[in-house]
Amino acid sequence: MKKVMIIGAGGVGSVVAHKCAALPEVFGEIMLASRTLSKCDQIAATLGRTIQTAQVDADNIPELSHLIRSFQPELVMNLALPYQDLTIMEACLATGVNYLDTANYEPPDTAHFEYSHQWAYDERFRQAGLMALLGSGFDPGVTSVFCTHILKHHLDTIETIDIIDCNGGDHGQPFATNFNPEINIREVTAKGRYWQDGQWIETAPLSEKQQFELPEGLGNMNIYLMYHEELESLARFIPGLKRARFWMSFSDNYLKHLEVLGNVGMTRIDEVEFQGQKIIPLQFLKALLPDPASLGPLTKGKTCIGCRIWGHKDGLKKGFYIYNICDHEECYREVKSQAISYTTGVPAMIGAKQMLQGHWQGAGVFNMEQLDPDPFMHDLNLYGLPWKVVEL
Ligand code: NDP
Repeated sequence: MKKVMIIGAGGVGSVVAHKCAALPEVFGEIMLASRTLSKCDQIAATLGRTIQTAQVDADNIPELSHLIRSFQPELVMNLALPYQDLTIMEACLATGVNYLDTANYEPPDTAHFEYSHQWAYDERFRQAGLMALLGSGFDPGVTSVFCTHILKHHLDTIETIDIIDCNGGDHGQPFATNFNPEINIREVTAKGRYWQDGQWIETAPLSEKQQFELPEGLGNMNIYLMYHEELESLARFIPGLKRARFWMSFSDNYLKHLEVLGNVGMTRIDEVEFQGQKIIPLQFLKALLPDPASLGPLTKGKTCIGCRIWGHKDGLKKGFYIYNICDHEECYREVKSQAISYTTGVPAMIGAKQMLQGHWQGAGVFNMEQLDPDPFMHDLNLYGLPWKVVEL
């Protein structure tokens, strides 16, 4: 009986709990632990089988280690926030348990994420004979596996990758974010950055824009160049990669609100004095915005996330577009969450499944690009995120 501990009872943690609970032959026993116990209990009550729940502060290494020791899981799945990555990795090392997450570490006081903090753990995980799998969501996660799948089955070399993340969903709210507002706004307001000819090129936030025609008649969307964490691991692990860029769609309405909020200082992440108290404007804004989980029943439309990849096969230049389309309403019907949480939670479950079944094994810290894409791609089709490849 394999045991897993899921940390974080937010939008993504809820999907992971649903998907793992539906596979008792892989996930024999489950504990869902988070800062607020009532959120764990609410999720547990909607599952088809009994799981354990617990309250834990994942910033507190001794407290978390104690909980891990008492449950004795094979794997801890971190679906809390990127701020908790390092403390949860420490607790896994202290207790001898494997680790998985979906987002790389970001210090709370600087809106800048990079893998160096977590890659630095490689030696300690190696020595402990444990595996840490980083970024097993959709992007990062599936997008990297899409690239290794194309490299394994369609191309000899990859030269350029454009990851395109489009959300055609409409939740009917004047302004809301589809996942944790603080993390989302920090990411969107950061400078753009892409990889070209062995170096990083910086752009002003959201300054590069294109129109993208989505597949299967989903229409056109404006997409904007952003920095995203898988660019760093792709640049490191895809040999000969000349250029890698990440694009995300935003509606004009979303951008208008974001611009005003930025102009009035509401997206600041430094402390300000307010009526004798110190507050961080972005955290205050988060408290005012709709909880992403509440958007589930309201959101209609589809997401389409994929990679346009060019390279060479047998000396000929070839291009492929590999993508998944996910329907918000279908996700809600299945697991009571919209497609953003769903497209993150399903790959987290699938990554965990590969580790528990021994398809993905090793000692050290791993990114998705380092592992065999085949069993993961097979399971995407099986567990709710079917993909297609078209030649360009
Ligand atoms: P939410 O804010 O909805 O959920 C986060 C959960 O973590 C909450 O339940 C929160 O508890 C809990 N939590 C926060 N701090 C602690 C702590 N110190 N100890 C214990 N629990 C804590 O976020 P999402 O579900 O939207 O996102 C989860 C993760 O998924 C994030 O890291 C996000 O960056 C990542 N993500 C990855 C994507 C990908 O494709 N790779 C896409 C989208 C998200 P409480 O509710 O009590 O505050």
